[in-house]
Amino acid sequence: MSFRASVLTLYPEMFPGALGLSLAGRALEAGVWSLEAVQIRDFATDRHRTVDDTPAGGGAGMVMRADILAKAIDHAAPQGDPRPLLLMSPRGRPLTQARVRELAAGPGAVILCGRFEGVDQRVIEARGLEEVSIGDFILSGGEPAALVLLDAVVRLLPGVMGNDASGDEESFENGLLEHPHYTRPQEFEGRPIPDVLISGNHAKIAAWRREQALKLTQERRPDLLSGREQAASGKKNAPEA
Ligand code: SAH
Repeated sequence: MSFRASVLTLYPEMFPGALGLSLAGRALEAGVWSLEAVQIRDFATDRHRTVDDTPAGGGAGMVMRADILAKAIDHAAPQGDPRPLLLMSPRGRPLTQARVRELAAGPGAVILCGRFEGVDQRVIEARGLEEVSIGDFILSGGEPAALVLLDAVVRLLPGVMGNDASGDEESFENGLLEHPHYTRPQEFEGRPIPDVLISGNHAKIAAWRREQALKLTQERRPDLLSGREQAASGKKNAPEA
């Protein structure tokens, strides 16, 4: 059974977008995953196909209506649909590689993309939507966030990445940022490739990469280290600095 994504949006033309190209696009064509973009406006009930209204209590902007969104959700995911219902939202739990892995191991996802000021709180509660953020910044709509989430998930689906092993060493997969990479030429603008990488000594190379990864993580993302298990940070070849 392949991973099934349904995206609820006012802009179905944004899909598959970037996910129609490269690895994700080939996997889509091959049926490794499927994507359905549902036009929320199709569930409006008035002549003007209105999906939003002014905020209760006043204030700027517009809010997406709970009743229309509920109809769109129930159409895309009828009762008994096993897929998680996600709402892209800056107020959500920040997306992590761990959550991406869980999603990739599941049957798919139903993803609601907000617009305007966001969506009526009651549909979030009534349908048990899981709010997911892609970072501490504000997009104009949930669509780019849904594309980001799906990109991260799809590359983990079986058979999508040519070299399956490469998925295990990426940044975050072991709680660290990844070590730096080098390739030919041997020297670039006076900068050589670090000697150890051309030594052919695989144990030394592995130790060097691990040291670099730790150093980089300490410098840039100490928060990742504090969350890690004692076992990993207590290893013998941890760097001195
Ligand atoms: N008024 C809201 C922001 C609305 S932005 C607030 O201050 O919280 C409009 C829509 O863009 C949101 O409903 C959401 O679907 C999407 N969006 C914006 N930023 C996002 C982020 N960082 N992660 C995920 N979705 C986001």
